Amino acid sequence: MRVPPTLSTVLGNLFKKPATNPFPKSDPVPVPEGFRGKLVYDVEKCVGCRLCITVCPAGVIEYVPEVRKVTFWLGRCTFCAQCVDVCPVNALSMSDEFLLATADKYDDNLRWFHGEEIEEFKRKLEEKKKARESFKKEARKAVESEG
Ligand code: SF4
Ligand code: SF4
Repeated sequence: MRVPPTLSTVLGNLFKKPATNPFPKSDPVPVPEGFRGKLVYDVEKCVGCRLCITVCPAGVIEYVPEVRKVTFWLGRCTFCAQCVDVCPVNALSMSDEFLLATADKYDDNLRWFHGEEIEEFKRKLEEKKKARESFKKEARKAVESEG
């Protein structure tokens, strides 16, 4: 009988350790440098220029005019990083995070800067504005009383 040429390879492999990664029992395979995972947004750095909205091919980003910031729907993101490249103040970056599965497309983990956060930001802006106005008023009074 003719022995198949691959038999020795098959028999040899039977006694080797499996070459698979049994995730989630073990850690996932490490990602390489420059990997494009979940987008990260630094709202404090953002200057509201809207360049990211212009380049995004997937309609992920919306402008919030009241606070001159942007909000993100990451469920639509294609991880292309064009917004990261175009942002002039480095308010955007790609993280290593890729385990993003969820049963809810409105999951908080897939949003940046939304709902209560926007309201909180508006409140802070309002407080700053009031503080500025009262400072100006006090300064004016002081100048008038001196004169
Ligand atoms: S990574 Fe690409 S798809 Fe995702 S928000 Fe940025 S520009 Fe849009
Ligand atoms: S490009 Fe950067 S600074 Fe401009 S709106 Fe987008 S995140 Fe903000």
